[in-house]
Amino acid sequence: MAQAAKNLRVGMVAHDKRKAELARWLARHRKVFAKADIVATGTTAKLLRKRCPELSIEALASGPLGGDQQMGALITEGALDALIFFWDPLTPMPHDVDVRALLRLATLYDLPHACNLSTANLIAAGIEAGQVGS
Ligand code: PGA
Repeated sequence: MAQAAKNLRVGMVAHDKRKAELARWLARHRKVFAKADIVATGTTAKLLRKRCPELSIEALASGPLGGDQQMGALITEGALDALIFFWDPLTPMPHDVDVRALLRLATLYDLPHACNLSTANLIAAGIEAGQVGS
């Protein structure tokens, strides 16, 4: 018997000033993510669940409390297919080292990752076309 295809697993993180932007983006692409498992840092996960309650959204710790590092560990384990990371380029962050480490791992492991709307749209289109996570 053929095995059911594994859902894509997509990480999502947004800094406070960009959370609304990520929630709007996800709502626009909710059909693309209907069969995906989303894993998000704590506060981002709460907001995304509120906006898209029908989607599968797992919560990690909040970013400043280690959630970015948990996300990085998932990348290291090969457990993510893409990362949408709306970081804030205008505000200094107390956990900037974690932010940089997460971006470093996403680059190191050649993980498709988007830090802005246009690239996130390309990733959504890639998922729709079956070009992500194969
Ligand atoms: P948060 O974390 O989703 O818990 O706000 C994001 C971050 O600041 O890295």
